[in-house]
Amino acid sequence: MTTSAPISRVGMFSTGSVQVRPDHAAATWKPMMLWLLTSTKWTPPLPINFFVIEHREGLVLFDTGQDRASVTDPGSYFPAGITGAMYRRSAKAVVPADQTMAAGLGRLGYKSSDVSVVILSHLHQDHVGGLAELFHARIYVSQAEWDTLAQPRAELGGLMRRHIDLPGLAWTKVTPAPTTERALRPFTTAHDLFDDGSLVLIPTPGHTPGSLSLVVRRPGQPALALVGDLTFAAPLLESGHVPGAGDRKQLQQTTAMMNELRRNLGGLVVLATHDPDAEGELSKAFVR
Ligand SMILES: [Zn+2]
Repeated sequence: MTTSAPISRVGMFSTGSVQVRPDHAAATWKPMMLWLLTSTKWTPPLPINFFVIEHREGLVLFDTGQDRASVTDPGSYFPAGITGAMYRRSAKAVVPADQTMAAGLGRLGYKSSDVSVVILSHLHQDHVGGLAELFHARIYVSQAEWDTLAQPRAELGGLMRRHIDLPGLAWTKVTPAPTTERALRPFTTAHDLFDDGSLVLIPTPGHTPGSLSLVVRRPGQPALALVGDLTFAAPLLESGHVPGAGDRKQLQQTTAMMNELRRNLGGLVVLATHDPDAEGELSKAFVR
C-alpha cells in the first residue's frame, strides 16, 4: 500500500426506494418459495443505494441503482407471464425522475461520463439499472456471477440478460485470486482494483453465487465494506441474521467471515444497498 491517500471522497445516492417482503429482509423459518407465494406484507420503503468513490485513477461506481424504465414501463421492462408475476410479488419500487443514477451523480457533482470504473455487486435489476449510460466505463463483475446468466431459469432467478449484456459494454470478469494479505483474513482470495490496497474486491457469495463486496481503505479512517445485498441492515449482519433469499448456508458462512474481517480490521463500516441507515453510517465514517 502507498502512504498517500488515493481516495479523496466516498459518496452515495439512492435511486428511489423499494419494498420487499419482511421474510426477504430477514430470514424466518419459511423457505423462499413459501413466503414469496403467500406473504401479504411489505417492509417500509428501503433505499436502492449506489456508491461513488473518487480515486486518483478515476471515478469508481459500486452498483448503478434501478432503472426508471422499470417503473414507467414495467410491462416491457419485466418478463411476462409467471416470471413477471414472481418479480411483482418480490418487490415494489418507485424511481422518481429526480432520483435516477444520472440525477444522483449530478447531485454529487458528477456526470455519468465522468465514471471510469463500475463494480457490480451482482446482476439483479436493482443494481444494473444505470448500465445503458456507462458504455465508456469498464464494468467489473465476478466471473462466477456472469456464469449464472447462462443457467436455465436465470430470468426466474432475477437475471434479465437484455438489461445486462448490452452490446458495447466493456466487461471485465473477475475471479478473485489468492492473497497473502493478512489484514483481509479470513478472506484468502481478493482482487485489488488498482494494486494499492485502497479498493479490494472480495467474494461474498450467498445472495447470489457470484456476489462481490468492496473493501474501501483510507489511511487513518475506518475501513468500509460495500456489501450489496449480503444484508439488509448492518446490525442484522453483526448479529449473524441473514436475509431470506439466496443460499442460506452460504449466506451464513459469508456473514461469519465478514464479521471476522471486521474484527481483524479493528472495525468495519458495513454499507448495504438496501440499508436505510447506510447513508448516516457513511457520513459518520467519512469526513470528506
Ligand atoms: Zn438488491
